[in-house]
Amino acid sequence: MAKKQFKAESKRLLEMMINSIYTQREIFLRELISNASDAIDKIYYKALTDDNLTFNKDDYYIKIKADKANRTLTISDTGIGMTKEELENNLGVIAKSGSLAFKMENEAKDGHNIIGQFGVGFYSAFMVADKVTVISKALGSDEAYKWESSGADGYTVEPAEKAEVGTDIILKIKENTEDDRYDEFLEEYRLRAIIKKYSDFIRYPIKMDVTKT
Ligand code: ADP
Ligand code: MG
Repeated sequence: MAKKQFKAESKRLLEMMINSIYTQREIFLRELISNASDAIDKIYYKALTDDNLTFNKDDYYIKIKADKANRTLTISDTGIGMTKEELENNLGVIAKSGSLAFKMENEAKDGHNIIGQFGVGFYSAFMVADKVTVISKALGSDEAYKWESSGADGYTVEPAEKAEVGTDIILKIKENTEDDRYDEFLEEYRLRAIIKKYSDFIRYPIKMDVTKT
C-alpha cells in the first residue's frame, strides 16, 4: 500500500521522538492515557446534550495490555473513536508539531528538558515503539480503520475490524540494544509506577492486563 507522507514539521518532531534520551521516554504513557481520557470525555459531554446517548459509567475505561511474547503494549479506550478522515487529520498532521519541534531544537541547545515540561502528544509513542498501529471505530460509524506507521517514512490507513466504538493504540516496543533498554515498558510494576506518577488524576478506571511469555 502507498505510504502517505508526514508534513515536514511533523516529521521533524517524530525524528526527535525516535532519538529521545532515556530519561524522557516514560512520559509516552502519560500522553496516550491523556488522549484516551480526552476521547472518553468527548462521549461524556455528548451524552449530556444528546438524548439518544446515555453515558453508562461502567462502559467507559482505559485498558493497558502488555504482551511480552509479542513485545506489544496496547492502550485501549472506549472513547469517541476516530473516522478515517480523523485518523488522517489528527495523527498525520499534528498542528502544534511545528512550533514544538522549533522549541525543542532551541531548548536542546540550552540543555533544558522540554519533553518533561510540555505535552508532546501522540508522537511520543515513537520514543518506545518502532511501529505504532491505531485501530479505531468512531461513534456513529459502522466501519473501523487502521492507521499504521513505522516512523518518519510515512503512514498507511486501511479498513479494519473492530467490534466496539473506541480506539486501540498498539505499540511494538523497540528491541533492547547494548545502550538502551526497552523491556521495562512491558513490565507490570514499571507501568504501574509510571501511571501512578503521571496519571493519578485521570477520572476513568485504568485497567491492566499482562501476558507473560
Ligand atoms: P492533543 O491531545 O494535544 O490534541 P495529541 O498529539 O496528543 O494532541 O493528539 C492529536 C489528536 O489525535 C487529538 O487531538 C485527538 O483528536 C486525536 N487522538 C489521539 N488519540 C486519540 C484517542 N485515543 N481517541 C480519539 N482521538 C484521539
Ligand atoms: Mg494529547
